[in-house]
Amino acid sequence: MSEDNLCVICHTVAEEDIHILKDYPFVCPILCSLLKEYNRSPGGCFFTSNFTEWINSNITSSSILWNSIFGITIWSIWKARNEVIFANWVWKEEEVIKKVIFLVLEVDQHWKVGDYRLLQGEDRLTV
Ligand SMILES: [Zn+2]
Repeated sequence: MSEDNLCVICHTVAEEDIHILKDYPFVCPILCSLLKEYNRSPGGCFFTSNFTEWINSNITSSSILWNSIFGITIWSIWKARNEVIFANWVWKEEEVIKKVIFLVLEVDQHWKVGDYRLLQGEDRLTV
């Protein structure tokens, strides 16, 4: 966070959770792409709800698949943002999207070992 409380990347708005993880202009293409990739309808409030409602509705939905993807996505966005700030990385949406898809597959592989699958067939855990 900067001394003036503005976003250290765009310098246009306060650096708040909702800006960093949802409203930052380069985040929307990532979220939209992943919603499409995983056949998830954003619903009417996906882009308009406040931060707490947005987080809660996406980590406690009836879809374990989406809850996991959303968590991985938010973590990846946070990590990418930190790499921009601390490692002079250039923000590339497609790289963040690829990373999310890779991590979702990784999670699925780990669950597979325990006879659980995240991505198999339907949008729910299968044994
Ligand atoms: Zn910003």
